Amino acid sequence: MSDRDSEQPIAEFQKIKIAYDRGKNNEALTATHGHFSEGFYRTLDAAIKKAPGVIEHVISLITASGGAEDRVDGTREVPLPMSTQAFSDVNEIYSILVYWTKAFAEQFNLQMPGPAARAWRNDRGTIVGLPTDISASDARYLTGVMTTWLGIHLENICELDPEDVTDFRDNLRYVFQTDARWPQQEKPRYSDMPCTNNGCNGKIAVYPPRNFGDSERIICETCGLHYEPDQYEELIIVFRQARIEMRQAQATTAHLMKKYQIAG
Ligand SMILES: [Zn+2]
Repeated sequence: MSDRDSEQPIAEFQKIKIAYDRGKNNEALTATHGHFSEGFYRTLDAAIKKAPGVIEHVISLITASGGAEDRVDGTREVPLPMSTQAFSDVNEIYSILVYWTKAFAEQFNLQMPGPAARAWRNDRGTIVGLPTDISASDARYLTGVMTTWLGIHLENICELDPEDVTDFRDNLRYVFQTDARWPQQEKPRYSDMPCTNNGCNGKIAVYPPRNFGDSERIICETCGLHYEPDQYEELIIVFRQARIEMRQAQATTAHLMKKYQIAG
């Protein structure tokens, strides 16, 4: 063992870098991503990953509520109508993402991904929102173009001016605030039984209870028929039994066809 080897741990120790951000109790943290701590990095990463889904969900609410016609100019005295608040939230998130993607791309001397072609711009040409009349899935896609780019470069972004990156983090809080303002319903599971309404055969969606103590909501997505939970339970037992019998009959037929060498 040379002296050099024994010095190694001390050299490693000296490399530990204090993060620019501080802990909850203002304690010093270790920088693991550029100037920042693990927690800071994870917050950025989570907000970026979350943004497209939040935007898609909020746009889908606007679409469901009747769209842009509902927009009226709110005053501070009157609570904003649902769709105005929702529009404002998605456009805020989108413009934040475009702003920072552009700002970081310039610092890296990289081309930024193209924002929405018909993006909503103010008088100075700055993007302030998504194109109007955009569908929820297009909004998700366009947001994803920005967030994918930010995600790829996140490690390098954390090496940039810490004040800028902290501002970026503060802006991204809006993603979580919007998510909290427009909570997403849990996704339904789908029954393996098609709708029993005469000739419908639609997919039956089973939504989890909204509140503690509520029952599941069981609705055909094609004809809109609501099933009472008890009624649904009975129907599905009959359906599953019939399916077992049908499969047994098919297996028997196949067996007989093979036995007597009848081509299938
Ligand atoms: Zn149906």
